[in-house]
Parts: sequence; C-alpha cells; structure tokens
Amino acid sequence: MGNTTASERTRASLPPAGRVTDARSQRARMERMAVTPLGGGVYEVEGQSGNAYSVDLPGGRCTCPDHNFRGVRCKHIRRVAMEVNEGLVPPPGKRAVACRNCGEETFVDETAEGPHFCEECELDPGEAVVDRETGDLLVVVRTTGRRADEVEITDRDYTVAAYPNNEQYRPDDVVVEAMYPVPAGLGSDDLKPHHLRRYSFPRGRLARRGEATGHDDQSELADFEVAE
Ligand SMILES: [Zn+2]
Ligand SMILES: [Zn+2]
Repeated sequence: MGNTTASERTRASLPPAGRVTDARSQRARMERMAVTPLGGGVYEVEGQSGNAYSVDLPGGRCTCPDHNFRGVRCKHIRRVAMEVNEGLVPPPGKRAVACRNCGEETFVDETAEGPHFCEECELDPGEAVVDRETGDLLVVVRTTGRRADEVEITDRDYTVAAYPNNEQYRPDDVVVEAMYPVPAGLGSDDLKPHHLRRYSFPRGRLARRGEATGHDDQSELADFEVAE
C-alpha cells in the first residue's frame, strides 16, 4: 500500500499530448522521469540523468537549478502537474491507496482512515440497493472492511460467503450491511423483526438501483443477520 504509482516503479515518458506545446513542456512529457508523491503536496521527481528533485506543487517550487537560477516553471513542476491532471499520481492533499474490495488504485484524503474503497465498490450509508438474488430493495447501513468469508452469521454455523445464495459471489468480497426499508405509514407496533435487523451481504450481491439485477420478483427474505 502507500503511494505506489505506475511511474514510480520505472522512469517513463508520458504519451504525447496531441497539441503543440513549448519546449519545456515537451521535455516534461517526453523525458523519462519517475514521480513519487511524498505527501503534503510535495513530489520527488527523478529525471533522465538520475538526479532527483523535490517539487512543491501548490507552492510552484522545485529544487532543480533551472527553477532556482532561472526562476522558470521547470520541466519537473510541469511533469508533476501533468501527472496529477492525468490521474497518474494523487493531487496535493490526497494519497493513493488500493480499494479494499477490488484492489483498484484510488485517491483518498491524506488524513482519511481506512478501509478505503473505489467509487465503484463503495456503497454509501442510506443508499438504496437491490438484492440480485431476490430483487428486494434494501438500504445500505455501511460498507465494512471485512471479507465475506470472515464474517460469521449470527446463530448460524457459517460465514456470509458460505451462505447458500452467496456461494456464487467472491468469498473475499467485502461485507455490506443493509436493512429492509420500513414501509411508509407503518407504526412502531407494526414493525416486523426484519425491519429492525441488519443483514450482511457480499458486496457483489448488491446492485445500485438502475443496474440490471436479473430479478424483479419479490421472494422470501434471506435470513442472515449480522453479528453485533
Ligand atoms: Zn525542476
Ligand atoms: Zn473497488
């Protein structure tokens, strides 16, 4: 984990921008450089010659001679700006992390605590989702950082992953807790037990509304309460 990015591993050039730019911008793009985010808006840029300079992107400063003696916006500053704009390195204030669910690199606030998810995988509290198995509508409580094959179902001898309808989903899917919405106008005396429980699903079993689920029938509730 940490700030691993594609260009950190090897010095590489960026693909051509497809428009005419000045000589410094061309060098910034074409020369083989490795950009490593250090946090706080500072990036280390290792150039073609092997020299490494430190770029403070928000401050518009670089430790190289071109910037310090000529006072120009050097190729290192330009290269960092290009990589930020093209999503290759995190912008100032963000850092690169792996999505807990799919491993995809995603940028999060530098101070944010995990688990982290990419936009595709994270379901937000209160979001309405559809159970792909039953077609039931549910409301997300939270996306947990725990795997389906690690979470035990209350009073059962198996995990969320081993639950019969869940076997076709990845056992290392993260668990999402969700509740059945209380129908409008239902008094507190009319609440059924399933209205008060949280249920645990492998992430893959829940679809955002609008995504095809292959089911539109209302079938029986799947009874797999989460351990509190
Ligand atoms: Zn520089
Ligand atoms: Zn993901």
